[in-house]
This record gives sequence, structure tokens and C-alpha cells, in this order.
Amino acid sequence: MPARRNAPPGPAPRRTPWPASASRPLVSPLQPSVVYVAESPDALDAQYEGRAAGYAYAREGHPNADVLAAMIDSLEGASGGIVTGSGMAAVGVALLGLLKAGDHVLGGDQLYGRSLRLLREDLPRLGIATSFADPTSAEAMAAALRPATRMILIEVVSNPTLRVADMAGIARLARDRGVLLAIDNTFTTPRGFRPLAHGADLVIHSVTKLLAGHSDATLGYIAAADPALRAPLAAAAATWGLTPSPFDCWLAERGMQSFALRHERAEANAAALADHLAGLPGVRRVLYPGRADHPDHARARALLGARFGTMLSFEVAGGRAAANRLVRGAPQIAFAPTLGDVATTLSHPASSSHRGLSAEGRAGLGISEGFFRVSVGIEDIDLLKADFAAAVAAAAGQGAP
Ligand SMILES: *Cc1c(COP(=O)(O)O)cnc(C)c1O
Repeated sequence: MPARRNAPPGPAPRRTPWPASASRPLVSPLQPSVVYVAESPDALDAQYEGRAAGYAYAREGHPNADVLAAMIDSLEGASGGIVTGSGMAAVGVALLGLLKAGDHVLGGDQLYGRSLRLLREDLPRLGIATSFADPTSAEAMAAALRPATRMILIEVVSNPTLRVADMAGIARLARDRGVLLAIDNTFTTPRGFRPLAHGADLVIHSVTKLLAGHSDATLGYIAAADPALRAPLAAAAATWGLTPSPFDCWLAERGMQSFALRHERAEANAAALADHLAGLPGVRRVLYPGRADHPDHARARALLGARFGTMLSFEVAGGRAAANRLVRGAPQIAFAPTLGDVATTLSHPASSSHRGLSAEGRAGLGISEGFFRVSVGIEDIDLLKADFAAAVAAAAGQGAP
């Protein structure tokens, strides 16, 4: 038809097929496609029935998530791990996928702030009861179990006081009582501890933090020891829409390539900085599980070997005014409430993660206005020592204001 031949081009050109290549890219391609084109209804059946591998719709799974999940699986000694849109999405998948109204969840009493909130305020709205106990004591956890307890959720090392859970005792308790044990391994990382090898049923990560490591991707991860739990977890992620962005997965895959190197360096820096801080006049106390004066040092040594982690906390005198001077006295150290970045970051729990607690509640945890948490990065240790010495001196009112 001549009229058609002369028609102006449409508003969009046809998509052309992806070019064939006998070779493959060294780096994983970024695959942002929301949907996948199937060859036929029979081919789609084969996929959904597990007879053929393939993707259909990105909320149900995509290659960048699967590549990243396999990398984290290999570190955790897991299989079939699921990458989620955030660390909280991974916590949500565990709860939404495996619990029902009438169940009870026992949480560690120093969980990450949002996890505490989820258990305290949101699960009860869904008919799921929650309570909390101190995971440094398996006896305290045992006393808090109820007939309806279906899951225990704890972290290995608490934030920001860096107390170490009685993992062996709690794993035994969970097994004896038939309760699922979920471990948020964000702080410890699989370099320090592998929950599934120590009797946990579920391992959870905020990949946002140390694993991705560059503060440019928000992601989580969950894996189960029992392969039968994978289907309900994956269904919860797809149904509640907790699945991740391909771009974030792609960035995190890149970050993960250097995870072990970053972690090794940051951990050595943390140990050296903890000792340096402990020797500075004006520092009241330093909390680092690798130090002999830490209340859980022996347990940390037994559980983590020499892998005491990249987080430390310390306290200076002088209240909020000194805290303000300390932060201003170290402008090179980012004052930011996160952790796990390549660079060292400083956070002040009383004005951020623990601001929702009363002053007495914070005092009970030992969190004063002079209390700081440090996520130690991979910088030159001499620069870090000098920066912190200047900051502590500024807190005491010495040097530049
Ligand atoms: C940050 C964090 C989370 C939540 O992760 P997001 O990626 O921020 O959603 C959960 N647990 C711990 C221990 C964390 O530090």
C-alpha cells in the first residue's frame, strides 16, 4: 500500500532483539526488564512448573537478584537465598512468610530499631504477639518462651553496645522447643559468623551495609536452612512486593567483589582504633568485643574467633555540648547514622537510633549523650587516629572549638 509506505514513522521504533554473541560479557549485564517475553503458553507452563529455567516478571525474580543471592549464599554456606528490596524487607519476608495470627515471636531486646518497632507495633496489629528478652542469656530467652512461640529473632552482636548473644545456648533452646531461630547477621557478616552452621534456621542481612559496602544500594537477603521454607519466603517477597531493584543488585554485586578485602582492613582498623581511643584522655570507656575489657570478650573469642568486627563504641564526658563539639571537631569523619561504608562513619544513638527511648531507657543500656558508635572504614589508620584524637580533644574543650 503506497499510503502506508509513505506514512511517517510511529512515535516509537520497534524494539530489536538483543544481539547474539558467541562470547559472553565478563561483567554481569544489568537487566532492568520488568517483564520477559515467552515463546508460547506451553513454554510459560514449563517455567512456572519448574521444568525450564526462566523469568516472567521482575517482582517474582530477575537475574541480577539471583546472581547476587548466589554470591551471598556462597559466603553464608546457604542455598536458595532470596535478595529483597531492603534489610527490613528481609525481616518482613521472614515474618510474613512463616507466621500467622496467634503465633508469638520472641525478639532480642536490643534489635535494630526498625526491627524492634516492627515487632512491638506492627505484628500485634496482625494478631501476632511479640515480646523481648536479653539474648546474652539463654536462660532469660528460655523463660520468655510461650507455648505459641514460633520464632526467635536475634542479632549476634547488638547495636550499639556490642553485646554478644549466647548463640550456642539459644540454638539449643530453639531446637529443643521446635522454634525457628532467625539471625540478623548484618553486623557480624559471614566473615565473622555463619548462623546456619551454628543451628540457625534463617539468616538475614541488610546488604545495604557491609556486604554492598558503598552506601549506594538498599537491599536485603534471607536464606533458610530447610529448603522447604524457600517457597513461602519467596512467595511473601513476590506477593508483598518486597523484591529488589536490578540496578541495586548490580551495584551490590560489584561491591561484594571486594567485601573480604574491605572487611579485613576495616576490622584491623577497628581493633587499632579501639585501643587508640582507650588511651586518649577524656575517653571514659571503649566498647569493642576484641578488647579484653569488653564484658563479652570471652564469648566473642569463642564464637567469632579473631573476627571481632568493624564496629566500636566509646563514651566521652560532658553531655550533649561535648557531643556537638566532638562531631564538629572531626569534620573528615561523616556524622551519619549508618554502618558498613568504605569510609568511617560516626553515629550518636541518643539523637538517632535510640531517640525514641526515654533518657532512663537509654541510661539502662548505657547510652549517654556522650556515647558514640563508630563504623570503621578502610582509611589509613594513622589518619583515623589523628582525626579521633582531634575530635576527643575538641569534646573536652581543647583545641579549636
Ligand atoms: C540497617 C539494618 C537493618 C535494616 O536494613 P535496611 O537495608 O536499612 O532496611 C536491619 N538490621 C540491622 C542489624 C541493620 O543494621
